[in-house]
Amino acid sequence: KMKFEKSQKLYEKGLVHLVGAVNSPVRAFSSVGGNPLFIKKAKGSKITDVDNNEYVDLVLSYGPMILGHRHKKVQKAITKALQNGYTFGASTENEIKLAKIVCDAFPGMDKVRFVNSGTEAVLSALRLARAYTGKDKIIKFSGCYHGHSDALLVAAGSGFATLSLPGSKGVPEGAVKNTLIANYNDLESVKAHFKKHDDIAAVIIEPIAGNMGVVLPEDNFLKDLKVFLEKKKALLIVDEVMTGFRSTFGGAQEILGVTADITCLGKVIGGGFPVGAYGARNEIMEMVSPLGDMYQAGTLSGNPVAMASGIATLTELKKQNPYAEFEEFASILEVILLETAKKYHIDLTVNRFGSMINPFFRKGEVTNFEEAQKSDTKKFAVFFWEMIKNGVFLPPSQFEAWFLSSALTEKDLEKVSKAIDAAMKKVADSF
Ligand code: PMP
Repeated sequence: KMKFEKSQKLYEKGLVHLVGAVNSPVRAFSSVGGNPLFIKKAKGSKITDVDNNEYVDLVLSYGPMILGHRHKKVQKAITKALQNGYTFGASTENEIKLAKIVCDAFPGMDKVRFVNSGTEAVLSALRLARAYTGKDKIIKFSGCYHGHSDALLVAAGSGFATLSLPGSKGVPEGAVKNTLIANYNDLESVKAHFKKHDDIAAVIIEPIAGNMGVVLPEDNFLKDLKVFLEKKKALLIVDEVMTGFRSTFGGAQEILGVTADITCLGKVIGGGFPVGAYGARNEIMEMVSPLGDMYQAGTLSGNPVAMASGIATLTELKKQNPYAEFEEFASILEVILLETAKKYHIDLTVNRFGSMINPFFRKGEVTNFEEAQKSDTKKFAVFFWEMIKNGVFLPPSQFEAWFLSSALTEKDLEKVSKAIDAAMKKVADSF
């Protein structure tokens, strides 16, 4: 039987000087109850907590660790970079190398600017869209998350959504008065805003939504959106912080056949270090300082160690080309989830795209935030803890995607499969 004593002790200690003992809320396990795990180390497809419990890792730090943890080549590149210094406040060759890899993968990007997080990438992209179009308003979709900048902390939750009420305390009304909310997979809801407003700079979207659980765009939703926006002279900002280099090397845009005006990246491009990026065609990027008058800067942006990690990760990823395997692995996982749920008479819907997968504890499809929210989070909580006890580390929320890494083995899949059986049984016994 698993023990969590050391995690428990660290949690209590952590509460003194850290907020909720965490530095990002989802890590607190609030929506599944119980105390959060403290992690000691990770290698390949596995992660180990401070009580020495080992898990198959389907969190992967919420996406970045696509090769699994501490891939040999990435570790070597990081170690080598460290020996030359940590940060210089001046340009390095590695920034040029990573920029080329990124721009080669995304046809819509002639130039890129590196920042330190997804949040920063997105807030800079909004500023750029406004600078370029000379317009102020932005449309985002209900249930999509684009980081924690003021203007976008709306309808990252609930029914206040369509009213553009701030989704977080401390966000002034003025900061969200230019944010309009549309419904995912509903082009008409976008068009309705354009009928009322003539100062819309851009629409921002998660091309495959991953922050209301995994929700797929309907056929041609993004293509039709792009065509419409071109007519209206507004920009399409595609937030590929989660999907970039994860859906496929060229991101979701490649698969969906759409090219963004501005693309946001994060997670995988840093290979576990804090890197974000935004990029676009030359004409747009030339607005950015020092070429243009849109200011955006960063003391640690393009950090040499982080760049080395990103280059090594993307180079290895391109070589491995694991996307067909991800598809196969995810499809097997989907079948296991659905059949096990059926065996125990539990309502379950599974959404997946590439190496992102999400079981929703509900009957009926999930195509938007409203439907996602009808999931039974109490069942998920029971399921979550039983998965933990059977050695599988999952995101502690019904609304977070599970991620696959290329380090996963057949044996891992067997372990996950057994855990799913135990966890579904527990859910059936509990309700
Ligand atoms: N955009 C998307 C689509 C994301 O999934 C996230 C993080 N989950 C962000 C932006 C924010 O990135 P970060 O947490 O690195 O600030």
